[in-house]
Amino acid sequence: MNTPYLTAEHVELRARVRAALARVVLPNAEAWEALGYIPAEGWRALGREGLLAFGHTGSAFLESAIVLEELGRTGYAGIRAAVGVHAYMALSYLEMFGTAEQKDMYLPGARRGERIAALAITEAHAGSDLRHLQTRAEPVADGYRVSGEKHYVSNGSQADLFVTVVRTGEKPAGKGLTGASLLLIDAGSPGVTRSPMGLTCYRSADVCRLTLDGVFVPANRLIGRRDKALMHLMRALDFERLCAGLLAVGGVGHCLDLLDGFVREHQVKDAPLAANQAVRHRVSELDGDFELVRNYAYHAAWLHARGELDTRTASILKLKATELAVTAAQWCLQYHGARGYLAGAAPARIHRDAMVGTIAAGASELMRDMIFETNGHQP
Ligand SMILES: Cc1cc2nc3c(=O)[nH]c(=O)nc-3n(C[C@H](O)[C@H](O)[C@H](O)COP(=O)(O)OP(=O)(O)OC[C@H]3O[C@@H](n4cnc5c(N)ncnc54)[C@H](O)[C@@H]3O)c2cc1C
Repeated sequence: MNTPYLTAEHVELRARVRAALARVVLPNAEAWEALGYIPAEGWRALGREGLLAFGHTGSAFLESAIVLEELGRTGYAGIRAAVGVHAYMALSYLEMFGTAEQKDMYLPGARRGERIAALAITEAHAGSDLRHLQTRAEPVADGYRVSGEKHYVSNGSQADLFVTVVRTGEKPAGKGLTGASLLLIDAGSPGVTRSPMGLTCYRSADVCRLTLDGVFVPANRLIGRRDKALMHLMRALDFERLCAGLLAVGGVGHCLDLLDGFVREHQVKDAPLAANQAVRHRVSELDGDFELVRNYAYHAAWLHARGELDTRTASILKLKATELAVTAAQWCLQYHGARGYLAGAAPARIHRDAMVGTIAAGASELMRDMIFETNGHQP
């Protein structure tokens, strides 16, 4: 890829990351999909390859951007989500707002793939609108007592720590989320239970329900400032959308490779499908849109590396990358014909997973709302 944001060293890094994913992920991907999660030995292998330890900030994030895109290129959206949530989305709260003690306690093991992180924000009635959060943390001597239920927690059954949004103040009366805080909850704490939610997509993402029944959380597990979760979420969710966008870009790249190879090879009426101008032009449209979104993704990554990522850029990337993934997956499935729907066929899995990419990490409608709200406010 010819872009001013990446150097020759980045190109070499991409080759190394792709080779590592080919060793660790691809031979195991179908087994992990069937299992519904990445098992402990899989996480450790990812850690040994160094794939969980790339930086979140500064120029090191451009290396992470490559890792995230290459995770998407594996073609397994459940695996890319599991790794993305662990190494980036959940750990970003510790990286950005954690104390030195919290970082020392959790980050080294997490980077080695020995302790897995999850993010517990969503609830049954608090998805796009977090003002309806019901999980409560009551202050007690030396900490908090937390009760509530979190939904759709990726890495839920395998996680050792949950970055959890809880209500510590009164329910907000107005538009914003007030009176909420972030707590680090150890999976082994009495009162923590988790159960798979049986999602039909993103199979290896291990999406679980997390029940917290009077769980004691020590005071030193508060991340950032009490009652100020909104302030932290606004920064972390922009980062989450950036990561989700980069993962989706990789997914589109994989899907288009599959589609391009198929239409050049598959024969209909004694000629390859690509002999048909309508097919060639469809693939070219997708290819052009892919180049646009991919370049925008690296622009967004570069902005983040400079500490200048804004909500508008992150939302545009998340929206455009995940929606392009749906369109690309639809045509990939269509041109594969019936064989694309066979059990275990890649086009059907890609299509199924692409749809949910427009909901996880913030629904497309929410992205459109934010783009509208920031229209004219581009820095
Ligand atoms: C595979 C997967 C993994 C996930 N992993 C995690 C995780 O690790 N941790 C976590 O906390 N959560 C996770 N989630 C939850 C995810 O963040 C929520 O699904 C998302 O925020 C949307 O919330 P919701 O599903 O409750 O939909 P709702 O908020 O109930 O919205 C339902 C639908 O309404 C529409 N809609 C929403 N807002 C608007 C609007 N303003 N205008 C018009 N239409 C609108 C959208 O189409 C949306 O899909 C995951 C979800 C999925 C699918």
